[in-house]
Amino acid sequence: MKAPVFAYAKPASLAEVFDCLDGGEGVRLLAGGQSLIPSLNMRLSAPTVLVDINHVSALRGISEAGGVVRIGAMTRHHELATSALIASLLPLIAKAVPHIAHQAIRNRGTIGGSLALADPSTELPACCLALDATIIAANRKGERRIAARDFFLGIYETALAPDDILIAVEFPLPGEDAICGFDELARRHGDYAIVGLAAQGVRKGQTWSSLKLTFFGAGDRPLLAEAAAQAVVFGKGIGAAQAALEDALSPSDDGECSAKTKMHLARVLLGRVVETMESGT
Ligand SMILES: Cc1cc2nc3c(=O)[nH]c(=O)nc-3n(C[C@H](O)[C@H](O)[C@H](O)COP(=O)(O)OP(=O)(O)OC[C@H]3O[C@@H](n4cnc5c(N)ncnc54)[C@H](O)[C@@H]3O)c2cc1C
Repeated sequence: MKAPVFAYAKPASLAEVFDCLDGGEGVRLLAGGQSLIPSLNMRLSAPTVLVDINHVSALRGISEAGGVVRIGAMTRHHELATSALIASLLPLIAKAVPHIAHQAIRNRGTIGGSLALADPSTELPACCLALDATIIAANRKGERRIAARDFFLGIYETALAPDDILIAVEFPLPGEDAICGFDELARRHGDYAIVGLAAQGVRKGQTWSSLKLTFFGAGDRPLLAEAAAQAVVFGKGIGAAQAALEDALSPSDDGECSAKTKMHLARVLLGRVVETMESGT
């Protein structure tokens, strides 16, 4: 099928983007187009104006200053995967990105598009929660900083207002003794995950001092499994942590997998990821 007819705007600055966003309900931002264009072609959405933000230089770049790493919204998955700064300062993201789709999609897809879309089966929203990220939104009235835990509200639902553009994400530096783990289960590499886990913690020698376990594909948004993480930190064992997942996750049946199977897979991932983190491999 072909996309419905739409007008096209190509702003070169944020001020011009705000002008476009004033146009009302039918206006949609076009980033990498890896989800939006298929949804137009399948006639799942029919915006009246597409605002192409690929030429707004203020939305690009990865930088470190003042104890945070800032990633511009138009940073592509491929740039995350090949950035030396990301590999050394945010290894959780470096581990997660190769699991996103296929190379051709990673060449175009952006972190801003991925977070704004808020597909609950995807890697980067979960990493944002595990890493305590702050998402920065802007509109004509100014900027707003939204903690990742308050940003994802449901399936394809975020705290962004209709006239907002997501401009960047900031990650506090994980600090000394920080370790991370990531794994997901998908039918084939590059498919959307059935269930996945992004984990970030602090462990010195044999002792944990903190741990965040964020599951994706296990509910309507990325979910922090706090009681399970506490069970690991306080040495209660993997079994106790796995049992604590029951209250934290809310997977649903779909054409691929039952909720029961997803819960089982989440327990398996927890065991694998925590054991890998504890063994230091
Ligand atoms: C076959 C296939 C498999 C995929 N598998 C995965 C996967 O395993 N994991 C994964 O994470 N992703 C996957 N994706 C999605 C892809 O990785 C992109 O990250 C995702 O589509 C969104 O990024 P984008 O830049 O392409 O956004 P677009 O498609 O351009 O936009 C998506 C939505 O976000 C809005 N938007 C975009 N940028 C902004 C912004 N800065 N501010 C506000 N709103 C904005 C748009 O208006 C639109 O509603 C897959 C896609 C395909 C086609």
